[in-house]
Amino acid sequence: MNTTNGDLATSEKMEAGERKILIVDDNLEFAKTIARNLEKEGFRVFIAPDGSTAIQKVSSESPELVLLDLKLPDIAGMDALKRIKAINEDTAIVIITAYGGEQVAVDFMKAGVIDFLSKPFTFEDLLTAVKNAFKIHDAQVDDKRYERFPHLEKFFPFLAHEIRNPLHAIGGALAIIQRRSDSKDELLNQSIEVIQEEVQHLNEFVQECLDFVRPPSRSRFVEVDINEVISFIVDTMPHRFQELCRKIRITADLVPELPKVYANYDEIKQAFLNIVRNAFEAMAEGGEFVVKTSFKSDPAPGGVEIVFVDHGIGMKEENLQFLFHPFFTTKPRGTGLGLAICQRIIVERHRGKIRVQSEEGKGTTVTVELPVEMPKDIS
Ligand code: ADP
Ligand code: MG
Repeated sequence: MNTTNGDLATSEKMEAGERKILIVDDNLEFAKTIARNLEKEGFRVFIAPDGSTAIQKVSSESPELVLLDLKLPDIAGMDALKRIKAINEDTAIVIITAYGGEQVAVDFMKAGVIDFLSKPFTFEDLLTAVKNAFKIHDAQVDDKRYERFPHLEKFFPFLAHEIRNPLHAIGGALAIIQRRSDSKDELLNQSIEVIQEEVQHLNEFVQECLDFVRPPSRSRFVEVDINEVISFIVDTMPHRFQELCRKIRITADLVPELPKVYANYDEIKQAFLNIVRNAFEAMAEGGEFVVKTSFKSDPAPGGVEIVFVDHGIGMKEENLQFLFHPFFTTKPRGTGLGLAICQRIIVERHRGKIRVQSEEGKGTTVTVELPVEMPKDIS
């Protein structure tokens, strides 16, 4: 059985143990006290007593967060900050100092500082600032992933606009032709049908292009009952694929009392629809389609697993590596965006997993896992 998975971009990085913090302060007693406390929380902590050591440590240890004192013995705080950012612009910086008025704070904010802590502060204040800084850092790094196709991100909305307007006009004109035409003219009727199908195909193509580049919407995460999403899709399949559905037997095996997941409902529905659509397209000759849900408690706090099984044409082994690439398709009229969109939604936006197993001539199994808890790095 051939297997591939779409979680190339998965990063299980929120564990504190893997997170590195650099404290830059010439007051070593103070730095060591904070370091000890942060280590108790599970962070890996480094200390630099001056600017030049700090810059070396940023290069050698790649800390994700730097707690920076502005008064350093060798270089000015702003210089240290700029040089740290030049090494890795994703490094999150929180200033810890007694020094500085509001104007200074504004300048530092502009230079990319996330937060300011004025000495003296409690460890609780520090921990809150540290956690918040990691959250912002992760969100920023995450957003960059969507810039992987910067040209498409600009081009698709433009393309969509240019195509959609004429399509609406064609659709409208066609409706008039249809009303006025002689319904007994079979060739004319068939021609109208061809135009309708082509218009629909283009509309779907444009929609897929837009779905692929749509920016993530963190605010739309809600509690979602996956069984309900699956039931909705299964119930609407006959309507969506009238021809195919007559030949395909659908079985839904949904475990009762499935915990809810935190997800963007519309996106998850769309990802599942893309998977089911592929399964149906692979079973043009008919067959059985099974979808199962279950709860996996390990690793805690667990996740919901959804398995889609078709007995369609399957895939060639050499194609598996390309499945999640945008525009990879083996269909004469495919866009190759369906699974690329699934990968974006499930892996990048929900920190889930998607795995495909397939055998040519036998069928395909697509397994999706979604964490029950809202991923910590999605706010
Ligand atoms: P499209 O459906 O437009 O071709 P997708 O990204 O949805 O684009 O799928 C990419 C390719 O993956 C398909 O062209 C097909 O070769 C293969 N594929 C996906 N799902 C299945 C499946 N259930 N059975 C067989 N092949 C599949
Ligand atoms: Mg598809």
